[in-house]
Amino acid sequence: MSTILIKNARVLGGEPRDILVRDGVIAEVGAAAGKAGPAETIDATGLIALPGLVDLHTHLREPGREDAETVQTGTQAAARGGFTAVHAMANTSPVADTAGVVEQVWRLGQEYGHCDVQPVGAVTSGLEGRQLAELGAMADSAARVRVFSDDGKCVSDAVLMRRALEYVKAFDGVVAQHAQEPRLTEGAQVNEGEISGRLGLTGWPAVAEEAIIARDCLLAAHVGSRLHVCHVSTAGSVEIIRWAKSKGWDVTAEVTPHHLLLTDSYVERSPVGPYNPIYKVNPPLRTNEDVLALREALADGTIDCVATDHAPHPVEDKETEWAAAAMGMIGLETALSVVQEAMVETGLLDWAGVADRMSYRPARIGRLSGHGSPLEAGAAANITLYDPSVRTAVDPAAMASKSRNTPYEGMTLPGRVVATLLRGRPTVLEGKLV
Ligand SMILES: [Zn+2]
Repeated sequence: MSTILIKNARVLGGEPRDILVRDGVIAEVGAAAGKAGPAETIDATGLIALPGLVDLHTHLREPGREDAETVQTGTQAAARGGFTAVHAMANTSPVADTAGVVEQVWRLGQEYGHCDVQPVGAVTSGLEGRQLAELGAMADSAARVRVFSDDGKCVSDAVLMRRALEYVKAFDGVVAQHAQEPRLTEGAQVNEGEISGRLGLTGWPAVAEEAIIARDCLLAAHVGSRLHVCHVSTAGSVEIIRWAKSKGWDVTAEVTPHHLLLTDSYVERSPVGPYNPIYKVNPPLRTNEDVLALREALADGTIDCVATDHAPHPVEDKETEWAAAAMGMIGLETALSVVQEAMVETGLLDWAGVADRMSYRPARIGRLSGHGSPLEAGAAANITLYDPSVRTAVDPAAMASKSRNTPYEGMTLPGRVVATLLRGRPTVLEGKLV
């Protein structure tokens, strides 16, 4: 029988209260919770208590690219960032397109995970966009897959997308689409606009994302299925999703922390110099108007949640010329700080809103049980303790991720995850991995 008393935590930013955790479950929340007898104590004075964060979109890279990240290092980064569960994307090597591979990832999570690892299954075999993967077998497997995505690639064939949406209805699954019309983005490097023109880099038009989102909303409505839109990056995409939701269609969407904070101006001018491929990402960083529209959409619920799209790459794949560099940024360890900067400091979300967008809603979209519950008696003790009052320089070398491709080097960000508890067991204490 293990008992932990968290003292004076501001639950969702409210008045200080004690949280008593017994055998992995929240036993009591309130001023009198300390009367329960001897317990290990965590002093949370000044700290905000949030439900353990849930990421719908993480690339853990194992199996296949263990030089970039492993289940162990990726979940260490997740725990440091306050996450208690991550969805592991399917674009591994081999691709997670069979029951065998998703079970392999699930077992790696059980064995090495510093948070829960929920595998995502591929929509098409080998992410090749030709035939559906074994969706039913993955859903029935020990990994209990409910989210299916070819992320990294778009399911661009409308017939395949329709079939996938029809198929997942049988087990309450969802198709998470990486919306990128392939022909419109051939060779694309940066957001199509003033800056791409000035630099002579091939532009990545907003319409390439928006056309796919519009098509998929219509398809999901037509077959009565569930669509989730990955990493929304443009103001036009927000308008389409708002329209689909106004129709009552079952469409949800995510936005990444980097699309809430950074713009394509960083390509020309940044704390780490011009044309630094650290800012090369898919979808690309967009304009300030897009950033403001994304923030507003996350605040009003048009965009349901924040998802990191944590995409680790080894140094040699990023420190090269722009056109040759890999696309992607790491983001697990900075996500909550970036959301504080972009959403809380701007008055767009309070801490209850942050809990909703980073824990409750992603868990619900992923149909993930045991996560995303309010901090109340009876809930699994998945808890993040966060100090919003500090401000520190981002140090890539201090990160737990095996990769260093953070776009926030040279910047200061607010807040620090002090402790993370997974079913009552600390994975992080005093900011350090346990
Ligand atoms: Zn993607």
